[in-house]
Amino acid sequence: MTYIHGTLEGLRKSSPAQCEFYQAAEEVLECLRPLLETVPRYHQHSIIERIVEPERQIMFRVSWVDDAGKVQVNKGYRIQFNSALGPYKGGLRFHPSVNASIIKFLGFEQIFKNALTGLPIGGGKGGSNFDPKGKSDGEVMRFCQSFMNELYRHIGPTVDVPAGDIGVGSREIGYMYGQYKRLTGSYEGVFTGKGLNWGGSLGRKEATGYGAVYFAQNMLEARGDSISGKTCLVSGAGNVAIYTIEKLYQLGARPVTCSDSRGAIHHPEGIDLDTLKLLKEVKRTSLREYVEYHPEATYIDAQDYPSDGHAVWRIKGEVAFPSATQNEVTEADAVALLSNGVHCISEGSNMSSTATAVDRFLEARIAYGPGKAANAGGVATSQLEMAQNSSMQQWTMEKVDTKLQAIMANIHHQCASTAAEFGDPSNLVLGANIAGFRKVADAMIDQGV
Ligand code: GLU
Repeated sequence: MTYIHGTLEGLRKSSPAQCEFYQAAEEVLECLRPLLETVPRYHQHSIIERIVEPERQIMFRVSWVDDAGKVQVNKGYRIQFNSALGPYKGGLRFHPSVNASIIKFLGFEQIFKNALTGLPIGGGKGGSNFDPKGKSDGEVMRFCQSFMNELYRHIGPTVDVPAGDIGVGSREIGYMYGQYKRLTGSYEGVFTGKGLNWGGSLGRKEATGYGAVYFAQNMLEARGDSISGKTCLVSGAGNVAIYTIEKLYQLGARPVTCSDSRGAIHHPEGIDLDTLKLLKEVKRTSLREYVEYHPEATYIDAQDYPSDGHAVWRIKGEVAFPSATQNEVTEADAVALLSNGVHCISEGSNMSSTATAVDRFLEARIAYGPGKAANAGGVATSQLEMAQNSSMQQWTMEKVDTKLQAIMANIHHQCASTAAEFGDPSNLVLGANIAGFRKVADAMIDQGV
Protein backbone atom coordinates (compact mmCIF):
# COMPACT_ATOMS: atom_id res chain seq x y z
CA MET A 1 0.00 0.00 0.00
CA THR A 2 2.63 2.46 -1.02
CA TYR A 3 0.06 5.11 -1.91
CA ILE A 4 -1.19 5.25 1.71
CA HIS A 5 2.37 5.63 2.78
CA GLY A 6 2.99 8.22 0.06
CA THR A 7 -0.10 10.23 1.03
CA LEU A 8 0.91 10.23 4.70
CA GLU A 9 4.46 11.27 3.85
CA GLY A 10 3.09 14.05 1.64
CA LEU A 11 0.86 15.31 4.46
CA ARG A 12 3.68 15.22 6.97
CA LYS A 13 6.00 17.14 4.67
CA SER A 14 3.50 19.70 3.38
CA SER A 15 2.21 20.54 6.85
CA PRO A 16 4.80 19.72 9.50
CA ALA A 17 3.05 21.90 12.10
CA GLN A 18 -0.27 20.10 11.64
CA CYS A 19 0.42 17.31 14.09
CA GLU A 20 -3.18 16.76 15.24
CA PHE A 21 -4.39 16.52 11.65
CA TYR A 22 -1.59 14.13 10.78
CA GLN A 23 -2.43 11.96 13.82
CA ALA A 24 -6.11 11.76 12.79
CA ALA A 25 -5.29 11.07 9.13
CA GLU A 26 -2.71 8.42 9.97
CA GLU A 27 -5.17 6.51 12.15
CA VAL A 28 -7.86 6.50 9.45
CA LEU A 29 -5.53 5.63 6.56
CA GLU A 30 -3.78 2.83 8.47
CA CYS A 31 -7.17 1.26 9.21
CA LEU A 32 -8.09 1.36 5.53
CA ARG A 33 -5.28 -0.95 4.39
CA PRO A 34 -7.34 -4.17 4.40
CA LEU A 35 -10.20 -2.44 2.55
CA LEU A 36 -7.98 -0.87 -0.10
CA GLU A 37 -6.30 -4.21 -0.78
CA THR A 38 -9.63 -5.73 -1.79
CA VAL A 39 -11.40 -2.80 -3.49
CA PRO A 40 -9.28 -1.37 -6.33
CA ARG A 41 -11.80 1.29 -7.34
CA TYR A 42 -10.88 3.53 -4.37
CA HIS A 43 -7.34 3.61 -5.70
CA GLN A 44 -8.47 4.07 -9.30
CA HIS A 45 -10.51 7.14 -8.29
CA SER A 46 -7.68 8.57 -6.12
CA ILE A 47 -10.06 8.67 -3.16
CA ILE A 48 -7.30 8.68 -0.55
CA GLU A 49 -5.54 11.65 -2.11
CA ARG A 50 -8.87 13.50 -2.46
CA ILE A 51 -10.33 12.74 0.96
CA VAL A 52 -7.41 14.22 2.92
CA GLU A 53 -7.75 17.50 1.03
CA PRO A 54 -10.47 19.87 2.32
CA GLU A 55 -12.89 21.12 -0.33
CA ARG A 56 -12.55 24.65 1.05
CA GLN A 57 -10.87 26.42 3.97
CA ILE A 58 -11.82 29.90 5.11
CA MET A 59 -9.61 31.95 7.41
CA PHE A 60 -10.55 35.41 8.51
CA ARG A 61 -9.82 38.26 10.87
CA VAL A 62 -12.23 38.87 13.74
CA SER A 63 -11.86 42.36 15.26
CA TRP A 64 -13.96 43.38 18.23
CA VAL A 65 -13.96 46.00 20.97
CA ASP A 66 -13.40 44.91 24.58
CA ASP A 67 -15.02 46.51 27.64
CA ALA A 68 -12.05 48.86 28.07
CA GLY A 69 -12.64 50.21 24.56
CA LYS A 70 -9.57 48.50 23.11
CA VAL A 71 -9.71 46.78 19.73
CA GLN A 72 -8.90 43.06 19.94
CA VAL A 73 -8.06 40.81 17.00
CA ASN A 74 -8.61 37.05 16.77
CA LYS A 75 -8.36 34.46 14.02
CA GLY A 76 -11.51 32.86 12.58
CA TYR A 77 -11.68 29.54 10.72
CA ARG A 78 -14.21 27.43 8.87
CA ILE A 79 -13.19 24.29 7.06
CA GLN A 80 -15.64 22.75 4.60
CA PHE A 81 -14.00 19.37 4.34
CA ASN A 82 -16.31 17.03 2.48
CA SER A 83 -19.82 17.43 1.11
CA ALA A 84 -20.26 14.02 -0.52
CA LEU A 85 -23.05 13.02 1.88
CA GLY A 86 -24.78 16.35 2.44
CA PRO A 87 -24.28 19.97 3.58
CA TYR A 88 -21.15 20.57 5.67
CA LYS A 89 -21.99 20.00 9.31
CA GLY A 90 -19.88 20.46 12.39
CA GLY A 91 -19.30 22.68 15.36
CA LEU A 92 -17.38 25.86 16.12
CA ARG A 93 -14.71 25.76 18.82
CA PHE A 94 -13.66 28.91 20.68
CA HIS A 95 -10.50 28.19 22.65
CA PRO A 96 -7.03 29.78 22.80
CA SER A 97 -5.47 26.54 21.51
CA VAL A 98 -7.42 26.68 18.22
CA ASN A 99 -5.22 26.78 15.12
CA ALA A 100 -5.37 25.48 11.55
CA SER A 101 -4.24 21.96 12.56
CA ILE A 102 -6.86 21.58 15.29
CA ILE A 103 -9.66 22.74 12.99
CA LYS A 104 -8.40 20.47 10.20
CA PHE A 105 -8.23 17.37 12.40
CA LEU A 106 -11.69 18.09 13.81
CA GLY A 107 -13.11 18.62 10.33
CA PHE A 108 -11.50 15.42 9.07
CA GLU A 109 -12.90 13.37 11.98
CA GLN A 110 -16.30 14.96 11.43
CA ILE A 111 -16.53 13.52 7.89
CA PHE A 112 -16.46 9.93 9.15
CA LYS A 113 -18.43 10.62 12.32
CA ASN A 114 -21.23 12.20 10.32
CA ALA A 115 -21.16 9.31 7.84
CA LEU A 116 -21.55 6.82 10.71
CA THR A 117 -24.77 8.51 11.85
CA GLY A 118 -26.37 7.31 8.60
CA LEU A 119 -27.80 10.82 8.10
CA PRO A 120 -27.23 13.05 5.05
CA ILE A 121 -24.56 15.38 6.42
CA GLY A 122 -21.08 16.22 5.17
CA GLY A 123 -18.11 17.18 7.35
CA GLY A 124 -17.01 20.65 8.44
CA LYS A 125 -15.65 22.47 11.46
CA GLY A 126 -14.64 25.95 12.52
CA GLY A 127 -13.76 28.19 15.37
CA SER A 128 -11.45 30.80 16.75
CA ASN A 129 -8.56 31.27 19.16
CA PHE A 130 -10.87 33.60 21.11
CA ASP A 131 -11.25 32.56 24.77
CA PRO A 132 -14.76 33.19 26.14
CA LYS A 133 -13.49 32.37 29.64
CA GLY A 134 -13.26 35.48 31.79
CA LYS A 135 -14.93 37.69 29.16
CA SER A 136 -18.05 39.69 29.93
CA ASP A 137 -21.35 38.89 28.25
CA GLY A 138 -21.02 42.03 26.16
CA GLU A 139 -17.53 41.06 24.99
CA VAL A 140 -18.71 37.58 24.03
CA MET A 141 -21.61 39.12 22.11
CA ARG A 142 -19.44 41.59 20.22
CA PHE A 143 -16.95 38.87 19.35
CA CYS A 144 -19.72 36.53 18.12
CA GLN A 145 -21.26 39.30 16.01
CA SER A 146 -17.93 40.15 14.44
CA PHE A 147 -17.21 36.45 13.78
CA MET A 148 -20.56 36.17 12.03
CA ASN A 149 -20.01 39.33 9.96
CA GLU A 150 -17.59 37.25 7.90
CA LEU A 151 -18.89 33.68 8.34
CA TYR A 152 -22.50 34.42 7.32
CA ARG A 153 -21.61 34.59 3.61
CA HIS A 154 -20.22 31.05 3.63
CA ILE A 155 -23.05 29.19 5.40
CA GLY A 156 -26.71 28.36 4.84
CA PRO A 157 -29.27 25.68 5.75
CA THR A 158 -28.45 23.57 2.69
CA VAL A 159 -24.79 24.66 2.44
CA ASP A 160 -23.07 24.55 5.82
CA VAL A 161 -24.71 24.38 9.25
CA PRO A 162 -22.44 25.14 12.23
CA ALA A 163 -23.13 24.18 15.86
CA GLY A 164 -21.30 24.34 19.18
CA ASP A 165 -18.14 22.70 20.47
CA ILE A 166 -15.72 23.65 23.26
CA GLY A 167 -16.40 27.26 24.30
CA VAL A 168 -19.53 27.56 22.15
CA GLY A 169 -22.83 26.87 23.91
CA SER A 170 -26.35 28.22 23.51
CA ARG A 171 -25.27 31.74 24.57
CA GLU A 172 -22.69 32.01 21.76
CA ILE A 173 -25.00 30.31 19.25
CA GLY A 174 -27.71 32.81 20.18
CA TYR A 175 -25.45 35.78 19.48
CA MET A 176 -24.19 34.33 16.19
CA TYR A 177 -27.63 33.26 15.03
CA GLY A 178 -29.04 36.68 15.90
CA GLN A 179 -26.37 38.37 13.81
CA TYR A 180 -26.94 35.96 10.90
CA LYS A 181 -30.61 36.91 10.96
CA ARG A 182 -29.80 40.62 11.02
CA LEU A 183 -27.45 40.26 8.06
CA THR A 184 -29.59 37.99 5.91
CA GLY A 185 -33.12 38.81 7.11
CA SER A 186 -33.81 35.11 7.06
CA TYR A 187 -35.11 33.01 9.95
CA GLU A 188 -33.80 29.70 8.75
CA GLY A 189 -32.18 26.82 10.54
CA VAL A 190 -28.58 27.74 9.87
CA PHE A 191 -27.27 26.78 13.32
CA THR A 192 -28.01 23.79 15.49
CA GLY A 193 -27.92 23.85 19.27
CA LYS A 194 -30.33 26.82 19.20
CA GLY A 195 -32.45 27.80 22.20
CA LEU A 196 -35.62 25.76 22.66
CA ASN A 197 -37.99 28.66 22.01
CA TRP A 198 -36.23 29.86 18.84
CA GLY A 199 -35.89 26.71 16.78
CA GLY A 200 -33.77 24.40 18.90
CA SER A 201 -34.47 20.74 19.46
CA LEU A 202 -35.30 19.13 22.75
CA GLY A 203 -32.48 16.76 23.63
CA ARG A 204 -29.74 18.47 21.59
CA LYS A 205 -27.97 19.85 24.66
CA GLU A 206 -27.95 16.39 26.25
CA ALA A 207 -27.28 14.39 23.10
CA THR A 208 -23.48 14.03 23.01
CA GLY A 209 -23.27 12.92 26.66
CA TYR A 210 -26.36 10.71 26.52
CA GLY A 211 -25.13 9.22 23.25
CA ALA A 212 -21.68 8.39 24.69
CA VAL A 213 -23.38 6.51 27.52
CA TYR A 214 -25.70 4.68 25.10
CA PHE A 215 -22.62 3.71 23.10
CA ALA A 216 -20.93 2.33 26.23
CA GLN A 217 -24.12 0.44 27.03
CA ASN A 218 -24.09 -1.11 23.55
CA MET A 219 -20.42 -2.11 23.89
CA LEU A 220 -21.03 -3.65 27.31
CA GLU A 221 -24.19 -5.47 26.24
CA ALA A 222 -22.30 -6.99 23.30
CA ARG A 223 -20.00 -8.50 25.93
CA GLY A 224 -22.87 -9.75 28.11
CA ASP A 225 -22.39 -6.91 30.62
CA SER A 226 -24.27 -3.72 31.51
CA ILE A 227 -23.55 -0.13 32.60
CA SER A 228 -25.75 -0.46 35.70
CA GLY A 229 -23.78 -0.49 38.95
CA LYS A 230 -20.48 0.53 37.30
CA THR A 231 -18.08 3.05 38.84
CA CYS A 232 -17.36 5.56 36.10
CA LEU A 233 -14.56 8.06 35.49
CA VAL A 234 -15.56 11.20 33.60
CA SER A 235 -13.26 14.07 32.63
CA GLY A 236 -14.45 17.54 31.68
CA ALA A 237 -17.20 19.71 33.13
CA GLY A 238 -18.81 21.04 29.96
CA ASN A 239 -21.94 20.00 28.17
CA VAL A 240 -20.63 16.55 27.25
CA ALA A 241 -19.43 15.66 30.76
CA ILE A 242 -22.51 17.02 32.53
CA TYR A 243 -24.98 15.03 30.42
CA THR A 244 -22.80 11.93 30.49
CA ILE A 245 -23.03 12.09 34.28
CA GLU A 246 -26.80 12.71 34.15
CA LYS A 247 -27.41 9.66 31.93
CA LEU A 248 -25.07 7.48 33.99
CA TYR A 249 -27.22 8.14 37.06
CA GLN A 250 -30.40 7.41 35.08
CA LEU A 251 -28.98 4.02 34.12
CA GLY A 252 -27.87 3.12 37.65
CA ALA A 253 -24.12 3.80 37.31
CA ARG A 254 -21.93 5.90 39.66
CA PRO A 255 -19.80 8.68 38.09
CA VAL A 256 -17.12 9.63 40.62
CA THR A 257 -14.99 12.25 38.82
CA CYS A 258 -15.10 15.37 36.66
CA SER A 259 -12.53 18.04 35.81
CA ASP A 260 -11.97 21.46 34.30
CA SER A 261 -8.84 23.16 32.97
CA ARG A 262 -7.65 23.98 36.48
CA GLY A 263 -8.27 20.74 38.38
CA ALA A 264 -10.28 17.60 39.02
CA ILE A 265 -12.89 16.44 41.52
CA HIS A 266 -12.96 12.93 42.98
CA HIS A 267 -16.17 12.25 44.86
CA PRO A 268 -16.30 8.53 45.71
CA GLU A 269 -20.01 8.66 46.67
CA GLY A 270 -20.81 10.04 43.23
CA ILE A 271 -20.56 13.52 41.65
CA ASP A 272 -23.43 15.74 42.73
CA LEU A 273 -25.05 16.75 39.47
CA ASP A 274 -26.94 19.75 40.87
CA THR A 275 -23.73 21.25 42.25
CA LEU A 276 -21.91 20.61 38.98
CA LYS A 277 -24.69 22.27 36.96
CA LEU A 278 -24.82 25.20 39.38
CA LEU A 279 -21.06 25.81 39.12
CA LYS A 280 -20.74 25.33 35.37
CA GLU A 281 -24.11 26.24 33.82
CA VAL A 282 -25.24 29.01 36.18
CA LYS A 283 -22.18 30.51 37.91
CA ARG A 284 -19.65 29.66 35.12
CA THR A 285 -17.01 29.26 37.78
CA SER A 286 -14.16 26.91 38.72
CA LEU A 287 -14.70 23.35 39.99
CA ARG A 288 -12.53 24.25 42.95
CA GLU A 289 -15.73 25.57 44.60
CA TYR A 290 -17.27 22.06 44.48
CA VAL A 291 -15.56 21.05 47.75
CA GLU A 292 -17.24 23.99 49.55
CA TYR A 293 -20.54 22.19 48.89
CA HIS A 294 -19.12 18.69 49.40
CA PRO A 295 -16.17 18.68 51.82
CA GLU A 296 -16.00 14.88 51.58
CA ALA A 297 -14.92 15.19 47.92
CA THR A 298 -11.28 15.82 46.91
CA TYR A 299 -10.06 18.61 44.63
CA ILE A 300 -6.84 17.86 42.76
CA ASP A 301 -5.16 20.97 41.39
CA ALA A 302 -3.86 20.57 37.81
CA GLN A 303 -0.40 21.50 39.09
CA ASP A 304 -0.44 18.28 41.12
CA TYR A 305 -1.35 16.01 38.19
CA PRO A 306 1.17 13.30 37.26
CA SER A 307 3.74 14.70 34.85
CA ASP A 308 2.80 12.13 32.19
CA GLY A 309 -0.97 12.43 32.27
CA HIS A 310 -4.21 13.31 34.01
CA ALA A 311 -5.30 12.69 37.61
CA VAL A 312 -8.75 11.41 36.63
CA TRP A 313 -7.28 8.40 34.82
CA ARG A 314 -5.30 7.37 37.89
CA ILE A 315 -8.46 6.73 39.96
CA LYS A 316 -10.02 3.27 40.27
CA GLY A 317 -13.06 2.66 38.09
CA GLU A 318 -14.61 0.33 35.53
CA VAL A 319 -15.81 2.53 32.68
CA ALA A 320 -14.19 5.77 31.45
CA PHE A 321 -15.70 8.69 29.54
CA PRO A 322 -13.01 11.16 28.39
CA SER A 323 -15.14 14.27 27.76
CA ALA A 324 -12.71 17.20 27.80
CA THR A 325 -10.47 17.56 24.74
CA GLN A 326 -8.13 15.84 22.25
CA ASN A 327 -5.19 13.73 23.48
CA GLU A 328 -6.38 13.96 27.09
CA VAL A 329 -5.55 10.26 27.62
CA THR A 330 -1.81 9.60 27.32
CA GLU A 331 -0.10 6.24 27.01
CA ALA A 332 0.78 6.36 30.75
CA ASP A 333 -2.88 7.11 31.50
CA ALA A 334 -3.90 4.14 29.35
CA VAL A 335 -1.59 1.84 31.29
CA ALA A 336 -3.00 3.17 34.59
CA LEU A 337 -6.60 2.80 33.42
CA LEU A 338 -6.04 -0.80 32.37
CA SER A 339 -4.24 -1.75 35.57
CA ASN A 340 -6.96 -0.07 37.68
CA GLY A 341 -9.69 -2.23 36.18
CA VAL A 342 -11.19 -0.02 33.47
CA HIS A 343 -12.53 -2.33 30.76
CA CYS A 344 -14.74 0.01 28.74
CA ILE A 345 -13.96 3.46 27.31
CA SER A 346 -16.42 5.64 25.45
CA GLU A 347 -14.93 8.86 24.10
CA GLY A 348 -17.09 11.96 24.47
CA SER A 349 -14.32 14.25 23.26
CA ASN A 350 -12.84 14.10 19.77
CA MET A 351 -9.64 12.01 19.47
CA SER A 352 -9.50 11.79 23.28
CA SER A 353 -6.57 9.35 23.31
CA THR A 354 -3.08 9.62 21.87
CA ALA A 355 -2.16 7.08 19.18
CA THR A 356 -0.08 5.02 21.61
CA ALA A 357 -2.88 5.05 24.20
CA VAL A 358 -5.24 3.69 21.54
CA ASP A 359 -2.71 0.93 20.75
CA ARG A 360 -2.73 -0.09 24.43
CA PHE A 361 -6.53 -0.31 24.51
CA LEU A 362 -6.65 -2.34 21.31
CA GLU A 363 -3.91 -4.72 22.49
CA ALA A 364 -5.81 -5.25 25.74
CA ARG A 365 -8.99 -5.96 23.69
CA ILE A 366 -11.15 -3.94 26.06
CA ALA A 367 -14.37 -2.31 24.85
CA TYR A 368 -12.97 0.88 23.31
CA GLY A 369 -15.31 3.27 21.47
CA PRO A 370 -13.39 5.95 19.54
CA GLY A 371 -14.81 9.48 19.60
CA LYS A 372 -15.97 9.49 16.00
CA ALA A 373 -18.40 6.68 16.88
CA ALA A 374 -19.06 7.19 20.59
CA ASN A 375 -19.76 10.95 20.50
CA ALA A 376 -21.70 11.03 17.22
CA GLY A 377 -24.97 11.43 19.12
CA GLY A 378 -24.43 15.21 19.27
CA VAL A 379 -24.17 15.80 15.56
CA ALA A 380 -26.86 13.20 14.85
CA THR A 381 -29.29 15.15 17.04
CA SER A 382 -28.19 18.32 15.25
CA GLN A 383 -29.45 16.72 12.05
CA LEU A 384 -32.73 15.96 13.86
CA GLU A 385 -32.88 19.69 14.69
CA MET A 386 -32.38 20.51 11.00
CA ALA A 387 -35.19 18.10 10.07
CA GLN A 388 -37.53 19.76 12.61
CA ASN A 389 -36.61 23.25 11.35
CA SER A 390 -37.18 22.45 7.71
CA SER A 391 -40.58 20.90 8.44
CA MET A 392 -41.53 23.62 10.96
CA GLN A 393 -42.07 21.07 13.70
CA GLN A 394 -40.93 20.51 17.25
CA TRP A 395 -40.65 16.90 18.38
CA THR A 396 -41.01 15.69 21.95
CA MET A 397 -37.98 14.80 24.08
CA GLU A 398 -39.18 11.21 24.01
CA LYS A 399 -39.19 11.12 20.21
CA VAL A 400 -35.70 12.66 19.95
CA ASP A 401 -34.28 10.36 22.63
CA THR A 402 -35.79 7.25 21.02
CA LYS A 403 -34.19 8.23 17.72
CA LEU A 404 -30.87 8.96 19.44
CA GLN A 405 -30.85 5.53 21.08
CA ALA A 406 -31.58 3.85 17.74
CA ILE A 407 -28.83 5.88 16.00
CA MET A 408 -26.24 4.97 18.65
CA ALA A 409 -27.21 1.28 18.50
CA ASN A 410 -26.90 1.40 14.72
CA ILE A 411 -23.47 3.08 14.86
CA HIS A 412 -22.29 0.41 17.28
CA HIS A 413 -23.69 -2.32 15.04
CA GLN A 414 -21.95 -0.87 11.94
CA CYS A 415 -18.62 -0.58 13.74
CA ALA A 416 -18.81 -4.06 15.26
CA SER A 417 -20.00 -5.81 12.09
CA THR A 418 -17.41 -4.04 9.91
CA ALA A 419 -14.65 -4.94 12.41
CA ALA A 420 -15.81 -8.57 12.26
CA GLU A 421 -15.91 -8.45 8.42
CA PHE A 422 -12.23 -7.47 8.47
CA GLY A 423 -11.28 -10.19 10.93
CA ASP A 424 -10.76 -8.18 14.13
CA PRO A 425 -14.19 -8.17 15.87
CA SER A 426 -13.20 -6.26 19.03
CA ASN A 427 -11.49 -3.45 17.09
CA LEU A 428 -14.10 -0.70 16.83
CA VAL A 429 -11.46 1.76 15.59
CA LEU A 430 -11.03 -0.36 12.48
CA GLY A 431 -14.80 -0.80 12.19
CA ALA A 432 -15.59 2.91 12.60
CA ASN A 433 -12.96 4.07 10.12
CA ILE A 434 -13.80 1.55 7.41
CA ALA A 435 -17.58 1.87 7.79
CA GLY A 436 -17.43 5.69 7.74
CA PHE A 437 -14.93 5.84 4.88
CA ARG A 438 -16.86 3.41 2.66
CA LYS A 439 -19.98 5.58 2.68
CA VAL A 440 -18.12 8.77 1.85
CA ALA A 441 -15.84 7.17 -0.74
CA ASP A 442 -18.71 5.45 -2.56
CA ALA A 443 -20.63 8.74 -2.69
CA MET A 444 -17.55 10.55 -4.04
CA ILE A 445 -17.19 7.98 -6.79
CA ASP A 446 -20.91 8.18 -7.68
CA GLN A 447 -20.64 11.98 -7.94
CA GLY A 448 -17.62 11.99 -10.26
CA VAL A 449 -14.48 14.07 -10.07
N1 GLU B 1 -19.10 19.71 17.96
C1 GLU B 1 -19.87 18.49 17.94
C2 GLU B 1 -19.05 17.37 17.37
O1 GLU B 1 -17.84 17.34 17.54
C3 GLU B 1 -21.25 18.67 17.32
C4 GLU B 1 -21.28 19.10 15.90
C5 GLU B 1 -22.68 19.44 15.38
O2 GLU B 1 -23.65 19.25 16.09
O3 GLU B 1 -22.75 19.90 14.24
O4 GLU B 1 -19.55 16.45 16.77
